Amino acid sequence: MSLLVRCRDYPTSVAHYGEYREHLRRDFWFSCAYCTTAEVEATGIGFEIDHYVPASRDKSLLTCYKNLMWCCEHCNSAKRNHPTPKASEAGFRFFNPETDNFNEHFGSDIDSFRVTGLTREVGEYTERVLILNRRPLLEIRQQRKRVASAQRQIVEGFRALQGMALDTLPKESRARVLAKMAILEARADRAQQEIVDFMLSELNRSPLLDRDPNAGAIARERRDFLRSCDAIAPPETSASPRDEQQEGDRVKKRKATEKGRRHWVRRG
Ligand SMILES: [Zn+2]
Repeated sequence: MSLLVRCRDYPTSVAHYGEYREHLRRDFWFSCAYCTTAEVEATGIGFEIDHYVPASRDKSLLTCYKNLMWCCEHCNSAKRNHPTPKASEAGFRFFNPETDNFNEHFGSDIDSFRVTGLTREVGEYTERVLILNRRPLLEIRQQRKRVASAQRQIVEGFRALQGMALDTLPKESRARVLAKMAILEARADRAQQEIVDFMLSELNRSPLLDRDPNAGAIARERRDFLRSCDAIAPPETSASPRDEQQEGDRVKKRKATEKGRRHWVRRG
């Protein structure tokens, strides 16, 4: 069973996949599709939209909502254009939280906080390529364990209350206490579900990644200010001599690297 169920209220067609940003954040519980890091846990790490099947491989999937994943920049940068066509042909692919069951593809060690790929083509491939045992992730899993243990203690306290010996109470209070406990129990079930939903959605969400409603006005003010200083950058189409020089240097460097690589391959 997969953990992720996408809501169906997303627009069926958009000009740019970036328009799906807020839908993706909500559908992925404000967490990375691959390493599950929540936005609030990822101090200093940005989040991006990832194409599960690289857009360079299939242009028709560029704005396909089902192909888009909310993804931390570490996973997105490691994923790049993987899997290569050759790896795809051999059956390698990344774990997809919408269609895959985590437990089928990964095992986890509760002491070391490491995850292990149980299937070579999906679990191990995802773990190795996206480095799912990188140090910050081990620390996040450790913190989560502490939170879970605190939650368990609360549940155990509630159970202790339920197991309280009624015969230690005065006779006239027993019926009232029993009735109150029944109400409390029904509420506790509801509350627990509400807490989980709330934690997964609102607590995972980082306000730093929310769109600034004033962003358009701020950008306009910045542009006006730059214009007032006569400091607007030249349009990209009219490259300055300096830009051309830099591009020339980049081409030379790329050619030198490719030459070196060919040399290395021949030697290897
Ligand atoms: Zn990630």
